[in-house]
Amino acid sequence: MAIVNTHYLNLPGNYLFSEIAKRVQTHAAAHPDAKLIRLGIGDVTSPLPPSVIAALHRAVDEQATAEGFRGYGPEQGYPFLRETVAASCYHGLGIQPDEIFISDGAKCDIGNFQELFATDCRVAITDPVYPVYADSNVMAGRGGAMPPESPENGRFSGLIYLPCTAENAFVPSLPEKRPDLIYLCYPNNPTGTVLTKEELAQWVAYAREHECIIFFDAAYEAFIHTPDIPRSIYEIDGARDVAVEFRSYSKGAGFTGLRCGFAVVPKTVYGRPAAGKGGKSGSIALHGLWNRRQTTKYNGCPYIVQRAAEAVHSPEGQRETRVVIAEYMDNAGLIRRCFEDLGMSVAGGIDAPYVWVRIPRGMDSWTFFDLLLQRAGIVGTPGSGFGPSGRGYFRLTGFGGRENTREAVERLRRLSL
Ligand code: PLP
Repeated sequence: MAIVNTHYLNLPGNYLFSEIAKRVQTHAAAHPDAKLIRLGIGDVTSPLPPSVIAALHRAVDEQATAEGFRGYGPEQGYPFLRETVAASCYHGLGIQPDEIFISDGAKCDIGNFQELFATDCRVAITDPVYPVYADSNVMAGRGGAMPPESPENGRFSGLIYLPCTAENAFVPSLPEKRPDLIYLCYPNNPTGTVLTKEELAQWVAYAREHECIIFFDAAYEAFIHTPDIPRSIYEIDGARDVAVEFRSYSKGAGFTGLRCGFAVVPKTVYGRPAAGKGGKSGSIALHGLWNRRQTTKYNGCPYIVQRAAEAVHSPEGQRETRVVIAEYMDNAGLIRRCFEDLGMSVAGGIDAPYVWVRIPRGMDSWTFFDLLLQRAGIVGTPGSGFGPSGRGYFRLTGFGGRENTREAVERLRRLSL
């Protein structure tokens, strides 16, 4: 038998989500008539905006004509979408269309980008956070050992964790030990918090001084409402030399099933070869490496999907997506206010669709999960699924639909938490 990649065996099983499914199933079997409200999901529920649907139909019809038919497209994305993205998302920020790589979503880009780096690069992640950053690096052999006794809550010894809790107002401290690669996700999944320009500028300055690369995951930028919160890391001077940015059409425009996103790889971000293998200047542009990677392993996002993504940037697309986002944010606001009124400590729900609740003292994540499930019929996500510093917290989302969210909030208010 062939030997499998040992690093995969270091990954914790998907204990959290299978345990949630098991408990929900048991509850549903015991209460077949009870209506469950699922506020744990990170998936959207509103249909695609009309202008996106119209663009899809047009692009499908083109495929029936000899002139309009498209076979393989450019691996980096069609120029029409790269140009639209550069103009509408990065106007005045110096990002060129050929620095934008269209893809089938941010998850793949984020999971794949670490491939460009040596196995012994040191990686820092904020904690709690979207699990793909840690897991993709563990798969690549950068995780080191995970204490076997704590598969749900443990830390990988090879990763640098930057805790974000109520104690530091969810703002990570700069690392004590220099990492090579730093993952930042703002607005944050799961805490729903953001960084101010000044806070993000400290990271850019740190990365410049210590020659680190920042992976900036801006999948939720469309949800930012507070003025002056940066939507892109390139709003910070100097970021174009140290940061790669990832964006997604999933949450803001409802593309979770359609699949489209992009990575921004400025030509001015460099890595270096291993000692003794230098090129002329001893530095290697990530832009060329990512282009090489994508042209080898990816055959491009479908033409019809790229036309749909283009429609998101049109004035109608922007108007329509704003309405949907406002509804998700109203839902998140309702949940947030409800927990505040119940006297609980809560973050998020202002610039992100996630509400991050501190579980009352004396209760652990699963006791709180069971309490909401059994006494209110509400399904949320225990915070420990997002990293060790998520212990003691719980995530609810604004994606659950207006009526469901209203009903959930009424049920929560009737509970004496
Ligand atoms: N980044 C973050 C922080 C996310 O929460 C998600 C999805 O939940 C993604 C990226 C994935 O986005 P996509 O659907 O574009 O793959």
